[in-house]
Order: sequence, then structure tokens, then C-alpha cells
Amino acid sequence: MYIASVGVSKFCFLFSLAFCGLLLLLIPALQPPSHQVIRPQPRAPVRPTQTSQLHHARVPAASVNAEGSDSASWLSKSSAAQEGVIKTVVTRTDSHSLMRGTDFPLFGGKGSYSRSRTWELLAFKDIFIAVKTTRKYHKSRLELLIKTWVSQAKEQTYIFTDGEDKELQMRTGANIINTNCSAAHTRQALCCKMSVEYDKFIESQKKWFCHVDDDNYLILPRLLQLLSSYHHSQDVYLGRPSLDHPIEATERVKSDGSVSVKFWFATGGAGFCISRGLALKMSPWASLGNFISTAEKIRLPDDCTIGYIIEALLEVTLTHTHLFHSHLENLRKLPTDTVLEQVTLSYGGFENTQNVVSIVGGFSKTDDPTRFKTVHCLLYADTDWCPKHNTHSKS
Ligand code: UDP
Ligand code: MN
Repeated sequence: MYIASVGVSKFCFLFSLAFCGLLLLLIPALQPPSHQVIRPQPRAPVRPTQTSQLHHARVPAASVNAEGSDSASWLSKSSAAQEGVIKTVVTRTDSHSLMRGTDFPLFGGKGSYSRSRTWELLAFKDIFIAVKTTRKYHKSRLELLIKTWVSQAKEQTYIFTDGEDKELQMRTGANIINTNCSAAHTRQALCCKMSVEYDKFIESQKKWFCHVDDDNYLILPRLLQLLSSYHHSQDVYLGRPSLDHPIEATERVKSDGSVSVKFWFATGGAGFCISRGLALKMSPWASLGNFISTAEKIRLPDDCTIGYIIEALLEVTLTHTHLFHSHLENLRKLPTDTVLEQVTLSYGGFENTQNVVSIVGGFSKTDDPTRFKTVHCLLYADTDWCPKHNTHSKS
């Protein structure tokens, strides 16, 4: 009897031991896989997340790599223009503090990022797009944007203007923000708008701030592709300088105005983008009206003030890109086969109506003087107002 109970307890003891052992073995299997941890910067360019809004976009080859293909093959499919910007990034890695000490992964460097896809992909909804306009351009400029690229990005596009237009808002469903800034084309009025743009972006919690003018066409899939090369927590300021040298201003923020400061800035007329990480650092000089006083101190326009805060005060370098375009350059010179690979396009104003991109499609120059409708129909052929047959009218 006694022997039997000892046997039973022994059995129970051994059984519990075996059960605990089994549990211990199972614990690691129940843990989430370690590769789910989001890695910090830097990151390799990845294929942009295709949102439903992009499904109909006819994106040139560079951004339609097959699922699972690695960064190297993504690069090999890239166009010359796209490689251009990637090379720009690479050559700047030595001076770019955030890239220092790491191999840029694109070209098969030692970094494991080119082989690993463990970071979250940038989604379309992560980008805050600000369009600057003024009441008098609602009909002549803004409506064309709303009809074309803004229609593909309605939720994340915010139009900053200076006058009420309830009719336009109701008819198009666009996010139109009346800044109550003056409608004048003065430094103060333009800086007032930029200040509101900045505050709205901070409030939005989105990862990227991109600004464009109302005479820019934004090629959304290309923008997503470009921003996917970076991480929003990095200090990133992307754009195109309008000058071939840095601008010089009297330093009245950090000193008493007895010294001057040189810095690069991205021209607002071509559009520019800023990562959230960098935008947050700009806050002391940009948030809640501080942008206007900073601009007043250096007495320069809004886009120069952005450059001043980033390059001169925060000592972060502008990443120059050739993928952004304003009408200050000769747009006719842009090779036709690279037009759809750019991030922004523009067109000449009243004074230079001939300064438009060379692209042939469903609209003549009379029907589409800016060429934006033609670009749009080449990208989004399913759009209801695009010519249905592949008739290429003469431009
Ligand atoms: N703009 C503005 N208020 C004005 C005139 C222009 O906000 O009184 C905006 C305009 O809508 C555009 C930007 O400023 O987004 C640049 O204007 P424009 O293209 O006429 O000039 P440029 O490109 O030659 O600087
Ligand atoms: Mn312009």
C-alpha cells in the first residue's frame, strides 16, 4: 500500500517534470519572431505600398518591381533619372551625418537592409501634401489640380488658400483650408501660409511633409517611391535648388546681425519634402507663428526661410534632387521618355506659355496647354474623362 503510493507520487513527480520541460521547450515557439522588430535607419529603397488609389496608375517600370525582388533588381530596373537621384543620395552619404558609418545598402553593401524586408513600408496615407494657392487662382490653376492628381490623393492633400470657396469644396470634396492670410504676393503673406501648412502637418501626425505650388503636377507613385528610400525619423530635406550656389543672408537669429550665413534652399516652385523627424526639430523657429518671425528676421521668402532653419540653424543638409521641377527651368528640355518618372512637373505662366513638358498623348496643346491632363491620362488611363481610344493627337 505504502510502496504503491510512493510509486504513484514518483510517477506524478516525473510527469510534472516532463510537462514543465515541454512547456519550456514551447515558450520560444510561442514568442513573436524576432525579425518583426522594426529596425532603425538607414533604410534601403523599397517598393512603395500600392494603395487602392494607385491601382489604376500606369507607373513606369521602375516602381512596378515584382513582389519579393530585392533592392538590387529594383535598382537594375530603374530609369536613368531614378538612378540619378539615388546616386545623389549615395554621394552625399559621406557628408550626411545620418548615413555615416553605414554602407548605403542599395548597391549591395554590407548592410543587411538590402536583403531584409522587416521594416514597415511607407504608405500613401503617411504623406501630408500641402498645396499653396490664392483665391484668384482657384479657377485657373487649382481646378486643374483637383481634376488631375489631387483626385488620386484627396485624403492627404490640403489646399492652403486665402479666401472662402465653399462651392469648390462642396463640388470637389477637396480639403480646402482658408488660412485667413493676406491674398497679397508679399513675403509676409506667403510666410503666413507656410506657417499654417507647418502647423497643420505637425497636427496631422503624418510621416512626411511635402509642399507644392498650385502650378505643380505631383506624380504620386514617384513621390512614394522616392520617400520610401528614407525613414521619416531621419533628418531629410529633399528638393531642388533654384540657384547654383548657396544663398547668403544676414544672421539675425543666432547673432546680432554682424555676420552673414550661407545656406542652400529648395525652391518652393518645384516642391520639397521634409521628414517628420526633421520637422519636429524645426519647431522652435517654425511652429505657432514662429515661422513668420524667423522669416522677418532674415527678411527672405518662405522657401528660403525653410532652408535657413534646416541648413543654417539645424545644420542638416539639403538633399538635392533633379526629380522636382519648377517653371524656372526649361521644361521642354526634359526628355519625353523621363517625364513620367519625375516627382513634380510645372508649366510656364502667362509670360512663357511655351515652357511645358514635351509629352504626347490624348490632348492637343490647345485642349491641354499645361500638358497636365496628358500626363494624368498616361498615368491613370481609366479616368472617366481621359480619351478612351489610344488616339495620340498631335501636340
Ligand atoms: N500665390 C499666393 N498669393 C499670391 C500670388 C501667388 O499664394 O498673391 C501662390 C500661388 O498660388 C503659387 C505660388 O504662390 O502657389 C507661386 O506663385 P506663382 O506661380 O504665380 O509665382 P512664381 O512661381 O513665379 O513665384
Ligand atoms: Mn509658379
